[in-house]
Amino acid sequence: MPTRTAGFEADLRANILSGLAIAAALGAAVWYFTGPGTTPPPQTVEADKAEVPAPKDSAKKPPAAGPPPKAAIFLPAKRIAPAAASALGNLEYRLTPDTVDRSVVSARGDTFGAMLRRAGVRAEETVPAVAALRGVYNPRTLPIGLELKVVFEAPGVGRPRFLGYRFDSSADRMVRVSRLASGAFGAKKVDKIVTEVYSRADGQIETSLFGAGVKAGVPPRIMLQMVRLFSFAVDFQRDLHGGEKFQIMYRSQKDESSRIVRHSDIVYTSLTVGGKARKLYVYEPPKGPVQYLNERGQGNRRALMKTPIDGARLTSRFGYRKHPLLGFTKLHAGVDFGARPGTPIYAAGDGTIVKIGWFGTYGRYIRIRHGSVYETAYAHMSRFRRGLRVGSRVKQGDTVGYVGSSGRSTGPHLHYEVIRNGRQVNPMKIALPSRKNLKGRELKQFLAHRKEIDARYAALGKANERQRQGSVQTVRSDAAAGCRNGVRTDPKDTRPCN
Ligand SMILES: [Zn+2]
Repeated sequence: MPTRTAGFEADLRANILSGLAIAAALGAAVWYFTGPGTTPPPQTVEADKAEVPAPKDSAKKPPAAGPPPKAAIFLPAKRIAPAAASALGNLEYRLTPDTVDRSVVSARGDTFGAMLRRAGVRAEETVPAVAALRGVYNPRTLPIGLELKVVFEAPGVGRPRFLGYRFDSSADRMVRVSRLASGAFGAKKVDKIVTEVYSRADGQIETSLFGAGVKAGVPPRIMLQMVRLFSFAVDFQRDLHGGEKFQIMYRSQKDESSRIVRHSDIVYTSLTVGGKARKLYVYEPPKGPVQYLNERGQGNRRALMKTPIDGARLTSRFGYRKHPLLGFTKLHAGVDFGARPGTPIYAAGDGTIVKIGWFGTYGRYIRIRHGSVYETAYAHMSRFRRGLRVGSRVKQGDTVGYVGSSGRSTGPHLHYEVIRNGRQVNPMKIALPSRKNLKGRELKQFLAHRKEIDARYAALGKANERQRQGSVQTVRSDAAAGCRNGVRTDPKDTRPCN
């Protein structure tokens, strides 16, 4: 049975909002949500879900015009651990008394000054507060719909003191204006307060990996990514028979308003094929693109893909009566993938097209040369990708054509051949080495990183378990902006990553 994650994630979001409220008040980009039974690491802020009110609608924008919203988040001073506060250092908003945010959203023809006044700032204070933007942000470029968070001291006796304001200047940066000790205002562009939300699911394949994942509550785009990651080493038509187990953990980054800053991607995934668990972990090297490596630091990519077609859209072998989907035999020198007409067919590896056009019983046919030893061939296409001709260079994973039933074929499918030194060989049998293997120091770093991912996956499982039993869940969330593998990309930035 698949494990559902959707409800768990929704609750998690509410918890993160309460964490965010505190982090925002501290002007720091680090926080944790910890539940009972865990020891918070140093430099954390403890928040108790039950005691910190986090209004459900705190992420919603108020209407553009009208009086400033009365709803505000009050943060009792006792909730902020003094040790944690001093460890954070360089606080721009004072911790005591507490602060209150008021949101205002810009309308057509608006100005920063007018917005601050709507939030309740005295006219004589708006002038220096807007002038402080100079050099950091041009106040004349005020887009419609921009949300200002205007910060005041929590109401005590008399009128609350205006402390500053902040707004998003781009997807991952924000501008913060704050009152300095001298009483003047200073402005700074800083990393947005971003949180990473981790979700986990596991289950068992019934008819397809894609279907089983979506049933377990995993977003379709994540399942597509998972299928693609395994397409190098797994033949999705012949290797899966139903009953295979899978695990997946993915993350997305959200800002203070719960808006997605970075779409989700896979952190860890495992697929058990033929009794063997194939595991992949995300790895972001200091230089170069993101990679997916197995537990020994070997990359998922091969020179040729075992499934050179959108594996998520394959027709189940059992339900495919019209055309037998053949494997490799003496009489059938390739392997068949059943899919709806129009399903994209990928170049199995980097190479050059050596044949493209009608080719007898093969129908519409493409042959690609990959180096001096291997060639691959694709038959029965409905059409080719526009612009391809003999001599065209293609990259692995490029769409070269679309599934059809041209030539001698009784149903839409891809007939795929791998040719080694001029002879067709069984694609299921060829063992191509991984294209990326880590060594030495890099491997050591990756293995430590892998351990962290394993621990996080296990912890999320426990949280899911408790969630199902209706008791407290434990979730830890990183301040992830500007971090890679738990290390700050900017060495001058001393904030911790986890
Ligand atoms: Zn065939």
